[in-house]
Amino acid sequence: MTTMLVDRRASAPASVPQRPPNQTAMQITGRPYVSYSQLSLMRSCPKKFEFQYVLNAPKDFLPVSLVYGGSLHASLESFYRARLEGLTLSADEMKIAYQLAWQENLEQAGEGVPVKYGAKEDEAAVHALADRTIAAFLESPLATPKGNVIGIEEELRIVLHSDLPDVLARVDLVTSSDAALYVTDFKTSRSKWTPEKAQESSEQLQIYASAAADMAEQMALPVKLAFAILTKAKSPKVQILPVPTDPDRIAAMTESTVQTWSAIVAGNFYAAPHPMNCSTCPYRSRCSAFGGK
Ligand code: SF4
Repeated sequence: MTTMLVDRRASAPASVPQRPPNQTAMQITGRPYVSYSQLSLMRSCPKKFEFQYVLNAPKDFLPVSLVYGGSLHASLESFYRARLEGLTLSADEMKIAYQLAWQENLEQAGEGVPVKYGAKEDEAAVHALADRTIAAFLESPLATPKGNVIGIEEELRIVLHSDLPDVLARVDLVTSSDAALYVTDFKTSRSKWTPEKAQESSEQLQIYASAAADMAEQMALPVKLAFAILTKAKSPKVQILPVPTDPDRIAAMTESTVQTWSAIVAGNFYAAPHPMNCSTCPYRSRCSAFGGK
């Protein structure tokens, strides 16, 4: 298993040869890797994967949970980037980062693509929730993480298997102290998570642990994983839930990832309707399961 830092430059040197699975990924999705969110989407509905990553189809709407989650992530990112510079952002400055990201999300979706809100929810209510969540974040231990910040939205690639393209891990926050290298993934959630839910949902974190393993080895530190949950309640709560590293789970995940990747390469993009997926699916008007073509 090897890890490498992603080349963030717009174009990597032409002389760097891509592994054949990376070339295949490039042909299918336009990206020379596969990400955890791509794999997860392919598992939940292959047709939606095709709309999003193969056809790059226009969306009917933007689910508010995506725009809110992405914008809040951006405000946290700006907070930690400032910390790297020795600065502390105020709540107002974090709100500006949130608003800018919100606007950017709308612009990326294209003109006229509306945000879809839940029942009894509107833009003002969602922004008010963001204000309360930023305040809760600033009062929580997350605002003073253990050790030094060494990575924010860090992109690492891992080779899980020679038949697979590199798996991209975009790690929200990496900090280090004398005791450990801490890898934290932020989630927004309707309600609090239990330790069991954190354990069940830790597949993505285990990939991050593998991706950070080389860095940890160089620093002679163990990797410690955690979810940071920010709830979308009237009084938002901030939870930090540690998750043990589990190398055995990586082996099982590699096997299932090989199968998922084979289905992507075979173009096995069937619709898998499910109320949980379809009610918030922005491609519903195009989907054959709902009369689209
Ligand atoms: S509407 Fe449902 S079945 Fe169709 S692409 Fe979306 S999630 Fe899949």
